[in-house]
Amino acid sequence: MKKPIYVTKPYIPPMEEYLKYIEEIWKSEVLTNMGGLHNQLEYQLKQYLEVPYAMLFTNGHSALELVLEGLNLSGEVITTPYTFASTSHAIVRNGLTPVFCDIKDSDFTMDSSKIESLITEKTTAILAVHVYGYPCDVEGIRKIAKKHNLKVIYDAAHAFGEKVEGIGIGNFGDASMFSFHATKVFHTVEGGAVIIKNMELGYKLHQLRNFGITGEESITSIGSNAKMSELHAAMGLCNLKHIDELIAKRRVRVEHYEKRLSKIPGVRIAQRRDDVEYNYAYMPIVIEEKEYGEDRDYVCTRLNREGIFPRKYFYPLVNTCDCYLEKCDMQETPIANHISKSVLSLPLYADLPMEIVDKICDLIEER
Ligand SMILES: *Cc1c(COP(=O)(O)O)cnc(C)c1O
Repeated sequence: MKKPIYVTKPYIPPMEEYLKYIEEIWKSEVLTNMGGLHNQLEYQLKQYLEVPYAMLFTNGHSALELVLEGLNLSGEVITTPYTFASTSHAIVRNGLTPVFCDIKDSDFTMDSSKIESLITEKTTAILAVHVYGYPCDVEGIRKIAKKHNLKVIYDAAHAFGEKVEGIGIGNFGDASMFSFHATKVFHTVEGGAVIIKNMELGYKLHQLRNFGITGEESITSIGSNAKMSELHAAMGLCNLKHIDELIAKRRVRVEHYEKRLSKIPGVRIAQRRDDVEYNYAYMPIVIEEKEYGEDRDYVCTRLNREGIFPRKYFYPLVNTCDCYLEKCDMQETPIANHISKSVLSLPLYADLPMEIVDKICDLIEER
C-alpha cells in the first residue's frame, strides 16, 4: 500500500531551528503569560501582515469569540453559512443570533448585494469570511456598514499574508481574526491572532485573554483564559521564517491544478482577481453534475479508491445542522447550498509532489 494522500499536511520546520528557541525558553524559565517569544511573535506578525497591531491567542476560535465579546455586540450578526462551524459558533456562543447571508457563485464569499435586505433594527455587526483565502468584497461591506452603523469583523482564518490592492488583508473592518492551527498556511500548532486598529479594543482583549486581570491586585472584568504559550510562539517564530517559500511552493501547485482543471467541462474553479496577492491556502473545485456527468461524491469516492483523500469542505452547511435549526430562523441560501453539495477541496500543501497533482487531475479528467 502506498502512503495515503490527505487534503493537507502540517508544515514541520527543521527541528534544530525549533530547539534553538526551546533552549531560550529553558534559559529564561518563562513558559507562558506574554513572555519574550510571545511578544517577539506579536511584533513580527504586525510587521509581516502590515497591520497596526496583532494580538496572540491560544487558538483562532477563542480569538473570534473574544473579539465579538470585546466589541460589545447585541442582537443579530449577519454572517455566511459557507464556512467552518467556528464562525457562527462564535456568534451563538456570545448570545447573539446569526443571520445567514448567501454567497457569490464566483468565489464563495458573502454576496454583499444581499446584505441590506437582512438588516433589521437588531443588527449590530457583519462577520464575513475570506473563505479559502478568496477576499470578501471589503469595499462593498464597508459602505453598507457605514450606512447602517454596523461593526465589521473578518474571519481571516484562511487569508494569512494576503494583500488586496497592496493592503494587508488584516486591515479591513474593525477587527480580523487569523487562525494558526496546524493545518493552516502559517501555524503555531494551535494559535490565533486578532488584528485591531485602536488600543481601546486592544486593552479590552488584553483583559479578556487573561481573566480580566489588570494589575497585581485588580481584576476588572470577567475575562477568559486565551493566552499563547512560549512553546507555541516558538513554533510561530520558526515558521514565519519559511512562510514566503511555503506560499511560493503552494502557488506552483495551485497554478498547475488550475491550468489542468479549468479545461475539464463541468469542473469549476473560483475566479481569481488581479488585485489580490493570494496565499494559495486551499484548492476547492466545484463539480457541476449536469455538465460533468457525475456528482461530487463520485469524484470523491474515485479518488479515495486510489488512496487520495480530498475533503468536502464545507459540507454540511452550518445552517442545515440541527443545533442551528433550533437557534434561529433560517434564511434561504440557495447558492451556498448548491456549492456545499458540489464542492471538493483537493490535497494541497507546500511539498505535495507534482506527480500527485497530475495524477489527481488525470483521475478527474478520466471520470
Ligand atoms: C480554522 C478556522 C477557524 C478556527 O480556528 P482555530 O485556530 O482552529 O480555532 C475559524 N474559522 C475558519 C474559517 C477556520 O477555517
